[in-house]
Amino acid sequence: MAPVSTIDEVKDRLDVVEVVSSYLQLNKSGGNYKALCPFHSEKTPSFVVFPDSQRWHCFGACNEGGDVFNFVMKMEGWDFRTALEELARQAGVELKPQTPAQEEAAEEADRLRGLLSAAARYYRHVLTNAPEAGRARRYIEGRGLSDETVEVFLLGYSLPEWEGARSYLTEQGYKVEDLLKTGLVIERESGGTYDRFRDRLMIPIRDGRGRVIGFGARTLDPDGVPKYLNSPKTSLFDKSRTLFGLDMAKRAIRREDRVVIAEGYMDVMQAHQAGYKNVVAQMGTALTEAQLRQLQRHSKRIVLALDPDVAGVQATLHGVEVARDSLEKEWEPVFDPRGLMGYEGRLGVEMRVLQLPSEQDPDDVIRQNPEKWPELVEEAAPVVDFYLQLLMEDVDLDDTKAKARVVDELLPILRAVTNPVEREDYVQKIARSLRVDERAVLARLRSKGQKEIKRSRSSRRSGHSDRTQDHVVDRRPEAPIETYCLSMLLRRPGLLSQVNGVLRERGLDPVHAQDFGPASFRVIFEAWNELLDSKPSTSIELLREELPSDLHGQLEELQAPDEIALADEQLVRDVVVTLLRLRQRRLRQLVQDLKTLMLEAHEEGDPRGKQYDRAHLVHTQMLLKTQRALAQSWDIG
Ligand SMILES: [Zn+2]
Repeated sequence: MAPVSTIDEVKDRLDVVEVVSSYLQLNKSGGNYKALCPFHSEKTPSFVVFPDSQRWHCFGACNEGGDVFNFVMKMEGWDFRTALEELARQAGVELKPQTPAQEEAAEEADRLRGLLSAAARYYRHVLTNAPEAGRARRYIEGRGLSDETVEVFLLGYSLPEWEGARSYLTEQGYKVEDLLKTGLVIERESGGTYDRFRDRLMIPIRDGRGRVIGFGARTLDPDGVPKYLNSPKTSLFDKSRTLFGLDMAKRAIRREDRVVIAEGYMDVMQAHQAGYKNVVAQMGTALTEAQLRQLQRHSKRIVLALDPDVAGVQATLHGVEVARDSLEKEWEPVFDPRGLMGYEGRLGVEMRVLQLPSEQDPDDVIRQNPEKWPELVEEAAPVVDFYLQLLMEDVDLDDTKAKARVVDELLPILRAVTNPVEREDYVQKIARSLRVDERAVLARLRSKGQKEIKRSRSSRRSGHSDRTQDHVVDRRPEAPIETYCLSMLLRRPGLLSQVNGVLRERGLDPVHAQDFGPASFRVIFEAWNELLDSKPSTSIELLREELPSDLHGQLEELQAPDEIALADEQLVRDVVVTLLRLRQRRLRQLVQDLKTLMLEAHEEGDPRGKQYDRAHLVHTQMLLKTQRALAQSWDIG
């Protein structure tokens, strides 16, 4: 008997209804609870919490559900470890000790965060009290930042001394070694250390949970170089994974279901001060996948507030392409996108570009004309429009070759438009603006698209030609099929792509995290899937390193003792069948739930009844499709 895992213990002690209701207004309806879905905007509630099974599901645009872990992860944008820590605290469950190495790393992280927060308080104190800080205080005043903003953002000042912060912090008992690790001091070649930040306005950078992880430091000298000096990359701080202001913007982003990404600290502070709190900053890098992943948990409507100079535009546009690529992959639909409730394009992130008056950044706009800001945000143009406009700026409409180049440059973005109707609109618009035949644009789009499909097909086929191997399988009949399915997928790196190949050939969706119920399984599967994407010949050891230690026990259970050897083809078939059974089971449950909801809605004359009817129909069709595939599963493989 495996001991009850911490994860299960937390789940046992918490009631999903209680946890969800600390975020949402739940209304009891029959045996269940309903609310407006927090993950998409809607007028009638399609978010349902099922107390009996301790699950939640959005039957609206999201069509997604899960357990209490999935809920808080999605709601708060937490990773699994954070969710576990927080829920364990709420449940009064003590977390199992981690491995010695991890424990040490966690202790060090705590210690360094403590140090950084002490440093922030120190700089803050210097700003308020030191006579040398006069210029910094005048700078803040000149920027129009209020005392409250200074307080909220914990602004500070570093003395024009080589050892100001170092002496103070070491006197407080912090070790020079740790000061080096946080980047607060720099090692001298001749030995000894000196302060990295001197005579600068200090802006603490916090992580999504509001903990100081580094600093941005602005020079007060008009000729000072660099203008902004950031903390170096450390174990806590990586600017490509951080968004300035996110800890304070999260709520507003969710409430308004929109996030504005600006470029600098001042933009964020000014916006928040003016009451526009859904603004974060990317801190001078192109947008990265890691940053977008964090945002996407809070909202899929992203507005970029661009620096109007060309270099800025190009940097951000490069970022947009990266974003499109990574987000498309991430948001691959769980089921057939055409089938699901007719919500086309719901999976595409809405990315818009806000156009600033020339020579101005958000900071200027908000200070000079705060009412203008929401208008600019509202008027932000879809990326394709913006890009088209930009490319068109100096195109000679008589130059056929130049026009073809513009079309080619637009193709990658155009292809990323998932909604075919929208895409057609764009094709028309491009054709009109460039004065070319619409069919020419379409032809170009298709010919390039085709090549890519072919390429991905042939690569998939080569994945199939893996030599036949013996596989060993745990076939205890009582082993839950979920465990079986995941453990098989983990057993050999090539298996997942083979299974997906078979599923696609049959018009079924590839394996997705949502195929697994428990959050821990989903986390393990996602980590595995990502690893396979980056390194097709990965191993369980690497996976283990990726996972929080709380999941190591579960991972070991998934590597249960080997009993029966299976041939390659049979293994693929086995996993496909198991997976289809899993889907069948989940769909049956959903169809059942929807029946209850429909009955209740009809009895109460609730207008939502129609929505449930539709969802019921869609899910029933998916169930039938899955069942048909199961019935034909004999000739798989
Ligand atoms: Zn929803």
